[in-house]
Amino acid sequence: MHDGFGRTIDYLRLSITDRCSLRCTYCMPEDGVQWLPHGEILRYEEILRLVRVFAAIGVKKIKITGGEPLVRKGVSGLISEIKAIDGIEQVTLTTNGVALKEQLPDLLSAGIDGINLSLDTLDRARFAEITRRDALPRVLEGLETAWNVPGLNLKLNCVAQAGRASDWAALAGLAKEHNIAVRFIEPMPIGLGGDMETCTETDIRAVLETAYGTLEPFDAVLGNGPSKYFTLPDFQGKIGFISAVSHQFCDQCNRVRLTATGYLKTCLQYDVGADLRPLLAGSDEELQAAIKAAIQNKPKAHRFSEKTVENREAHIMSQIGG
Ligand code: SAM
Ligand code: SF4
Repeated sequence: MHDGFGRTIDYLRLSITDRCSLRCTYCMPEDGVQWLPHGEILRYEEILRLVRVFAAIGVKKIKITGGEPLVRKGVSGLISEIKAIDGIEQVTLTTNGVALKEQLPDLLSAGIDGINLSLDTLDRARFAEITRRDALPRVLEGLETAWNVPGLNLKLNCVAQAGRASDWAALAGLAKEHNIAVRFIEPMPIGLGGDMETCTETDIRAVLETAYGTLEPFDAVLGNGPSKYFTLPDFQGKIGFISAVSHQFCDQCNRVRLTATGYLKTCLQYDVGADLRPLLAGSDEELQAAIKAAIQNKPKAHRFSEKTVENREAHIMSQIGG
């Protein structure tokens, strides 16, 4: 369907839990997080019903997210059921990779169409500093298992930390030997991300070009989102940038988000949308009407650069799904 600004909305980011095995500094506090009571988290059958309603109004692509989606039991079963829904063309997953090695066979059997692995550094001490867990070896096992699967659409997402040129260069280097996309995400001022020192695509490009040569634009579409891709000399894979801050791309936005409690969020920055959970007691028609009304009112654009914004999102990123 189209929103009030004529944008086609066909992509849903579906958060299935607020729990996580890591504590990335820009996403979650070290402790003191108020976990959602289990009774408030949508059951799989409720999620499936909602996805059917979203599919009926034109959502074709689903990204499973969290918290960390692989900490919730039965995620592969959920994926195979979502894949069977009429109208759903693609189901992908974003993960921190900690449990990827063990769960990859089940995810592949479920028919997963792509995996995004979030990884900000290849340095073990630095990883522990960013995520507050010494889990890099497990993540790398997951990554190596995944890139050995022929044809798996694998992307690596790095939230770029200011001044970490060596991390950026090392991560980009993975795309030299492997046919994967390594993407750099500008830190967004959502939740704890507001405390991060900013850095931009321009900073990262300068570092990568010094290390590897000129980045040449790569025009083919590789994903569902706003990432721009580039090639580098002798690289098998691609380099991508998701530059929501320095290069706003809201005019092309195709997505909405559903939180683990069933709140339909229509823009990352604002606390606006519709609480679908109470409507689960009613009919599919009522759900559909509420979803359509919320999408119709989807905000035009984020205002990350402004200090005071009405209805600013107060949740942390792990409660939203990224
Ligand atoms: N745990 C999974 C993961 O890390 O991929 C899924 C949830 S996580 C919230 C989804 C994505 O949001 C990750 O790629 C993460 O790096 C990104 N993210 C979290 N906080 C962010 C921020 N402040 N700015 C930009 N990206 C952020
Ligand atoms: Fe967990 Fe992902 Fe947030 Fe890191 S970014 S704390 S892995 S939900």
